[in-house]
Amino acid sequence: MTMQGATLNGGWSSFQGVNGDYPAANTANTDLINILDTVAVPIVVVRGDFMVACFNRAAADVLGLSPSDIGRAARDISVFAGLPHLEQQCSRVITSGVESRADFRDADKWFVVRMSPYTKDDRQITGTVLTFTDVTAFRASIDQAIYERECTKTILNTVADPLVVLDADQRIQSGNRAFYKMFGLSREETQGVPLNDLGNGAFELPLLHEPEEMLAYSHVFHSVEVPHVVTAKGPRTLVLDAHPLSFPGHSERRVLVTFQDITARKQAEAAKDLRSEEELRRSEAFLAEGQRLSLTGSFCWNVATDEITWSEQLYRIFEFEPGTPVTIERINTRVHPEDGPMMNETIERARVGGANFQYSPRLLMPDGSLKYVNAIAHASRDAEGRLEYIGAVQDVTQRRMSEEALAKARTELTNVAGVTSLGVLTASIAHEVNQPLSGIITNASTCLRMLDVDPPNLDGARETARRTIRDGNRASDVITRLRALFSKKEFALEPVDLNEATREVIALSLSELQSNSVILQSELADDLPPVSGDRVQLQQVVLNLLRNASDAMASVDDRPRQLTIRTELDEEDRVRLTVRDVGAGLETQSVDNLFAPFYTTKTDGMGIGLSVSRSIIESHHGRLWAAPNDGPGAAFSFSIPRILDAVTGTRILDAARALAATDTGYVMRTM
Ligand code: ADP
Repeated sequence: MTMQGATLNGGWSSFQGVNGDYPAANTANTDLINILDTVAVPIVVVRGDFMVACFNRAAADVLGLSPSDIGRAARDISVFAGLPHLEQQCSRVITSGVESRADFRDADKWFVVRMSPYTKDDRQITGTVLTFTDVTAFRASIDQAIYERECTKTILNTVADPLVVLDADQRIQSGNRAFYKMFGLSREETQGVPLNDLGNGAFELPLLHEPEEMLAYSHVFHSVEVPHVVTAKGPRTLVLDAHPLSFPGHSERRVLVTFQDITARKQAEAAKDLRSEEELRRSEAFLAEGQRLSLTGSFCWNVATDEITWSEQLYRIFEFEPGTPVTIERINTRVHPEDGPMMNETIERARVGGANFQYSPRLLMPDGSLKYVNAIAHASRDAEGRLEYIGAVQDVTQRRMSEEALAKARTELTNVAGVTSLGVLTASIAHEVNQPLSGIITNASTCLRMLDVDPPNLDGARETARRTIRDGNRASDVITRLRALFSKKEFALEPVDLNEATREVIALSLSELQSNSVILQSELADDLPPVSGDRVQLQQVVLNLLRNASDAMASVDDRPRQLTIRTELDEEDRVRLTVRDVGAGLETQSVDNLFAPFYTTKTDGMGIGLSVSRSIIESHHGRLWAAPNDGPGAAFSFSIPRILDAVTGTRILDAARALAATDTGYVMRTM
């Protein structure tokens, strides 16, 4: 609606017609009315009796007042329904002379209504001037700002990480819910408190002490880790980030500090470190134990610097004080003088060659003992490309000793085999001795007869006496030859652990048994008492039984070639050893024949093994026998008395002495 400002008479001058106190329609007032009509702000004058006195054009345009509203009670004009206490407020303004304000809403517009006293000629207040300032846009922007602030607040409170806004003195301005929760404090308790006062003084951040400097940076600080911050949840490790905040039109600067709780991550890292430290320690322990058990030490030799690093075990092998410096010269002091030149040559070749090397010197220890070692080294390059050798040294002294002992045992067995075979051969050779003996007897009788005749046949007697001497010499020769053969072997009487002796024989014959596809099972009795005898001879018997059993199964192809060796204490309290096979068996053979000298069914057999074995066992006061199995194969067993007591021991000793005293040439060696 567009209309000119109105009075009771259709213009401002009409106030006069109603009440002489209001503007008169003179020239000056006309000008004033014209001016007021140009003002965009609606102006309405309400009289002391709350009647509308006049209004300007904007009031008509904006509020929709019409000339007919002049002289009407304001409360009856619908547009003023938005000012329910209009009359009271106007009368307060008239009585107090003090301006009043009220918010006013017309449709979708908001106004701030200013109610000012209307004074006639500066004397009496006769009404109220209402000016309506349109604040719709301003209010909308305020609403928006409030809305946005509320949104921001909600967002910040839902953020799980604590954040706080500090002023330039690092005093806390406001924080989000997570921040207050972290320290178990309320907004009021922390308002204006320096951040450094929180967390038990953990935030001693240098940059926070220099506010100006702090604000000069776009990022005040970034990812500063602060451990041991005392929080409501106990000590925590926090990461702090700070961002400067500035507001357009505001000189005040603030800093937003965010906190990230990394305690769990730190603990996990620490646990992982601990774990890997523990794993490292364990693997080092494993390595050290492995080196100790395998008697192998390791080393690293940097050729350029001649720096040598040794493992604990290597110090042990060389018998050097652990941790003391090791040099080539020092190593040389332990190398056997005869192996020194070879050692030096190996080292010199390694220095220039850069190839892997292997060397087995002997070490001569300060106490004069010998050690055998095998050294092997692999050439590689260190981080700077320099030649270095990483290697291992194994102490093989024990192995060497065992090998030597085995070789000696093998030789002894072979020797005994030969000697004992000859022992039995004595029986078959006896007839050779018998022949000259019966010749001697015959010749002696003939000689006597020739001397008894008259006259005595002296020439014949002389001849037969000569033959007697010849035959005597022949017999003597046989004995001498046998003596020479047997005198090489000592008969050793000692307590023998048959299990142990058997294990040695098994170890010696294992490869032969394996190549014959024999599956060996040993059932050696626990707590087997010792026997008294010649260990090597008894081993010869066991070896012979094993070989025979293996030979007996040579043609077996339809079943596993199972061989069982068993020791036990039998019913008669004697130590018994049985070798059982699943071979050809004994059905077709007369068992007694087997033990006869020179009996063999093998094309390459000598037929003396069992007879020798039986004679050895019998010389130990034992018994050797054979028996067929229920199923295929046979079992050969021997039993000999255990060392029971002094009486038995003496008996065996006596027997052995008696044996030694016979003219077989055995040399007795008693323990
Ligand atoms: P050799 O082994 O040289 O033949 P031995 O005196 O050791 O001499 O054996 C004599 C014979 O006894 C053998 O040829 C064999 O016929 C028989 N014999 C020995 N052991 C067994 C056995 N375990 N099973 C079957 N026959 C056997």
